[in-house]
Amino acid sequence: MTAPRIDTDTIRRLPKAVLHDHLDGGLRPATLVELAETVGHTLPTTDPQALAQWYYEAANSGDLVRYIATFEHTLAVMQTREGLLRTAEEYVLDLAEDGVVYGEVRYAPELMLKGGLTLPEVVETVQQGLAAGMAKAAAAGTPVRVGTLLCGMRMFDRTREIADLAVAFRDAGVVGFDIAGAEDGFPPADHLAAFEYLRRESVPFTIHAGEAHGLPSIHQALQVCGAQRIGHGVRLTEDIVDGKLGRLASWVRDRRIALEMCPTSNLQTGAASSIADHPITALKDLGFRVTLNTDNRLVSGTTMTREMSLLAEEAGWTVEDLRTVTVNAVKSAFIPFDEKGALIRDVILPGYGTAL
Ligand SMILES: [Zn+2]
Repeated sequence: MTAPRIDTDTIRRLPKAVLHDHLDGGLRPATLVELAETVGHTLPTTDPQALAQWYYEAANSGDLVRYIATFEHTLAVMQTREGLLRTAEEYVLDLAEDGVVYGEVRYAPELMLKGGLTLPEVVETVQQGLAAGMAKAAAAGTPVRVGTLLCGMRMFDRTREIADLAVAFRDAGVVGFDIAGAEDGFPPADHLAAFEYLRRESVPFTIHAGEAHGLPSIHQALQVCGAQRIGHGVRLTEDIVDGKLGRLASWVRDRRIALEMCPTSNLQTGAASSIADHPITALKDLGFRVTLNTDNRLVSGTTMTREMSLLAEEAGWTVEDLRTVTVNAVKSAFIPFDEKGALIRDVILPGYGTAL
């Protein structure tokens, strides 16, 4: 028996929550073209449509390192106050347009210092842009709350400093921390000082793990570093044989540790082979706290609406499944319990109620 198809307009209207989305991976192509001209950066093409296509093709190489290299162009226009304000504001407006009601945006402030801004200035500027976007979205009748995760780059040695920054801005919109960048060769435990400090300060964090690197990376992120969520985690399935969970998979499921899964991104980096076979469906069915995410909307040519539509069309997901991953995301968001409850009760459940 096949589930009835859910049309894209219905999916677009459903309230959504996204926990894993990179600010520098989600610029509008037209904005990238305009800002690049302002700062004198040369892009592969100055036609916004062709640029979107260039990104999609470059990202489809099946190689995480090459995928990450496409960020050179977006980062080039995010070194000035003007560039950061605009990209942050548009980021929020694009989420609102996609039906997102709660989002966590992440970026690495240390990659935005070439224009002379200091680390705190970068964070302050991005927060200003996000606040402007949230005010506009609310005024347009599509309110969206966006919290910030600051990323330290795992191949560099500034993660402890970025952890300090997360603590400093915890009451000014920063809700958590992450480490990003190429996973292979840069294990999370290299940054233990940052994680231990954050734990002492009670600031939550997630860690990109189990994407390019397998179970040891997930194990280290959780059991050595103490992450509260896992970015991707697709390779956790290596600890599940014929539906039977190993100790690490059991820990993740039983402790309700959210997996921030990003199907299209995983296809592009080679971490999964198809939407139909993406581990998100099996993990959802086994009761894991899976969440659905975009990762990099420009680079992957995607939106939450598109990710949901792909799962509905190619993996048989129902509206109930979409509601489950949305509620899961809010439950595991790095915001206070009472605010999560209000979002689920007042916004998400009513929004799905009419579609069920
Ligand atoms: Zn990511």
